[in-house]
Amino acid sequence: MSKNIVYMDNSATTIQAREVTAAVMKSLESDFANPSSLHELGRKTQNEVGKARSIIAAELGVDSKGIVFTSGGTESINTVILGVGDALKRKGRRIITTKIEHPAVLESCRHLESRGFEVIYLDVDRCGFPDLDMYRKALNGDVILVCVMAVNNEIGTVLPVREMCSDAHRSGALFHVDAVQAFGKIDLTGCGADFISVSGHKIHGPKGVGAFYAGGGAKFNPLILGGGQEKGRRSGTENVNGIIGFGKAVELTEEERKREKSSKSVNDPGSAAGSDGAESRENRNGGYVWSLRQRLITGLRNNIGDIKVNGPEKRGEVSDHILNVSFLGTRGEVILHALEADGIYVSTGSACSSNKRGQSHVLRAAGCTDREIESAIRFSLSRYNTAGEIDYTVERVAAAVARFRKLGSFR
Ligand code: PLP
Repeated sequence: MSKNIVYMDNSATTIQAREVTAAVMKSLESDFANPSSLHELGRKTQNEVGKARSIIAAELGVDSKGIVFTSGGTESINTVILGVGDALKRKGRRIITTKIEHPAVLESCRHLESRGFEVIYLDVDRCGFPDLDMYRKALNGDVILVCVMAVNNEIGTVLPVREMCSDAHRSGALFHVDAVQAFGKIDLTGCGADFISVSGHKIHGPKGVGAFYAGGGAKFNPLILGGGQEKGRRSGTENVNGIIGFGKAVELTEEERKREKSSKSVNDPGSAAGSDGAESRENRNGGYVWSLRQRLITGLRNNIGDIKVNGPEKRGEVSDHILNVSFLGTRGEVILHALEADGIYVSTGSACSSNKRGQSHVLRAAGCTDREIESAIRFSLSRYNTAGEIDYTVERVAAAVARFRKLGSFR
């Protein structure tokens, strides 16, 4: 990168790791053969794809035979929702999801509604946790699929997917986890889900590659038809180089986790890792990103009045990497551009839907007021951020908020 930047928009996408770029470059040169070709070169490419499949399966704690490569999280999610709807429409026509899902889920559900399915959108509380009473009442024999995100991309809430999965199975429904924001961060091993969707570019891997896991008994019809690749579950020649980069990114995540756990002091930004929250079973990382998050929220609170944290605050209930804050009396978009001028990159909500110019459906569902929604900023961190960047960000946010409040630029 040419200029010094502070990148805090990792929920939108992450900086590709150098090691991933190196692996992709090497693969672009050497793995050009079609993995479906029967000759030696094809077998070599197939072997490389197989290695990545095993790495991703191991991270999820599932059988690698269930991993299907796709073009990303959106395609994975569409395939599961539309594919289950198509395969099981004679069994039942009800689907359950939550009001705070990503548009990839919500739009797929709306599409099924237009085809005569009934979709129940669960209410959430002020922290983004779904109403489990409503859920249990909605679970009847007609439900074919429950689709819930493991981590919300705007406010970071860690949803209780294990519990919800057990309930779904008791009523005979399949369970799909949108793990795009959770993959590599939250422990999903043994969660029992029939489907899990993941994406490469949220974990320092390449864009345009993703995967989903489909368990042995999980019925769905493929979305993309053709040459029968991926055992007929997703046709089209595999994005070999992207898949290899994705595998490398997962491998790095695992290495980083081990390194962090064995040496708490590495990159220690000053505050004890996870000091205000117990090590959570769900939490996969050693605490470096969490300690940055805590440093950020403490700094913002100490330097700026009238702010509100959107989403839970306890480790394990909120993802280590996401912090959503409303700076009341300002406009998030104005703060975003002021920070951009200082080389700091954040988001006002989810980048994936920001082109729609609408208000955040997540903050709305969590009961936020217009003032809170319009003044919200999402900081999303990664292992590449430093304590110095956090301190600089706190200083620049405080300056921007003070300037705009003084100007009364927003009423
Ligand atoms: N699900 C969640 C929770 C996301 O945050 C995103 C992207 O932001 C997606 C799905 C879509 O993934 P992709 O960008 O790989 O299509």
